[in-house]
Amino acid sequence: MAVPIEDRPTPTDRGEESLPVLDPATGEQLADVPVTDPAEVRAAVKLARAAQPTWLALGFRGRRAVFATSRRWLLDNRDRVIDTIVGETGKAREEAVVEFVYMVTALAYWARTAPAHLRTRRVRSLSPFVLGRTMYTRREPVGVVGVIGPWNNPLVNSFGDAIPALAAGNSVVLKPSEETPLTGLLMREMIRGCGYPTGVFQVIPGAGATGRALADEADFVMFTGSTATGRKVAARAAERLVPSSLELGGKDALLVLADAPLDRAVNVAVHGAFFNAGQTCTSIERVYVEAPLYEEFVTRVRELTEQLTVGRPDGFGTADIGAVTYPPQLDVINEHVQDAVDHGARVLTGGRPLDGPGRFYPPTVIVDVDHSMRCMREETFGPTLPIMKVGNVEEAVRLINDSEYGLQASIVTRDTRLARAIAARLRVGAVTVNDTQSNYLALGLPMGGWRQSGLGVRHGGEGIRKYTRIQSVMVNKHPLRRDVHMMPFRPSGYRFVLRLVDLLNGRLRSR
Ligand code: NAD
Repeated sequence: MAVPIEDRPTPTDRGEESLPVLDPATGEQLADVPVTDPAEVRAAVKLARAAQPTWLALGFRGRRAVFATSRRWLLDNRDRVIDTIVGETGKAREEAVVEFVYMVTALAYWARTAPAHLRTRRVRSLSPFVLGRTMYTRREPVGVVGVIGPWNNPLVNSFGDAIPALAAGNSVVLKPSEETPLTGLLMREMIRGCGYPTGVFQVIPGAGATGRALADEADFVMFTGSTATGRKVAARAAERLVPSSLELGGKDALLVLADAPLDRAVNVAVHGAFFNAGQTCTSIERVYVEAPLYEEFVTRVRELTEQLTVGRPDGFGTADIGAVTYPPQLDVINEHVQDAVDHGARVLTGGRPLDGPGRFYPPTVIVDVDHSMRCMREETFGPTLPIMKVGNVEEAVRLINDSEYGLQASIVTRDTRLARAIAARLRVGAVTVNDTQSNYLALGLPMGGWRQSGLGVRHGGEGIRKYTRIQSVMVNKHPLRRDVHMMPFRPSGYRFVLRLVDLLNGRLRSR
């Protein structure tokens, strides 16, 4: 039996000192990257902690200037960034462009909005015990944020999370995935050239042991990756009572209602399932179609899928479906498809890996599926699109909620009022109506999984406030010698308090 992905030894666990980085589309070795050992991780966090006050002292304006320089650096180095992402992930060039655009936008968004998200807020109270006090909350950065990222989006899912942490005045130590460290190393160049004080933003390549060491040292752990690893990271952070934010796996559903505009539904399904060769946490991994539209929808999805090109991404327009980045993932995809076939499903397109060189799995449409099959319950993280017929909305809602995950769901319909009502019944952190995945690119919209898909959110106010500690302050500017409720207790004082409560709550008694 195959060893579960989370139990397979990583290079550092095997005691290796470097990470060979291979191009998944060719098998060619691109680099050999030194692993950061736990002692070096401790030293990196120590340096980051010492540097953080200088970064905080720069203020929002000073940090905004550094982000502006970073944006210019990214724009000047656009092709190098995109080439590096394509090289180590094997994804299509168009998909790497999305990462690049996200990053440029994120630097601008957090620079612009951080002051408002983190501003000092006045607090009011109706309690008679605090009349006349000035009260407010203010925010302090947590200190050193450890960011640990996955391989599917080496820029978005790690550097994207570092920017709000930095904007809030934290320093960041970032560990990229062992499968894709080259984008991180390129970002080191950006960090060196853009005015970050030494130690404020560090990139430490390595595998599981490096990540563990970082989770053991940081003041906050921002983790993106599998649910199995996320659970371990959260447990370790909890032992030290430091907060963590977890963006984990998913099994996202698409619901196509009988009144759906067919073209839109087909495009949403195909793009949602096959973007990044399905290696996206918010990938559509199962589709439910209301019976009247089912046959036509399946035919059209099949036709469109057959038009997609698979292969080595050499430039724009050369491949719709790139490589499978992580070697063991190919086994998982294969196992899920095989399991479905063994239980009676029919494969309409694709269905088995392509011959090398490189690791490619063609876009695979599967029908006659049900929830006894692994492809409908477990995260596949590959280019598969299982489609199931449903009798009505009630059945669809029940099936969509029949999952341990709760990341995202999509609905396609002309009746957006009904879609909103359905959204409110889905146990997921995000819902898109007549759209797929693009909500991730709207940085003001919080995004986070429920249940086994994670804890906490990225983006929006919540996505930056999590990197801070709140401090509440109460100031009594004109204190009396003694408040009426202070000791020793005096009945007249408490009778006065009770009268005040009546007044404050709009009740006037005659007594
Ligand atoms: P993974 O859990 O195997 O690894 C993620 C990171 O954790 C890597 O950098 C790895 O080196 C590190 N790591 C491994 N063991 C560790 C430990 N014990 N302590 C600390 N760090 C450790 O995940 P992956 O295979 O790289 O990524 C794919 C998964 O990520 C999928 O499940 C996908 O759904 C999920 N993901 C989620 C989101 C989201 O926003 N919810 C986004 C992208 C990917």
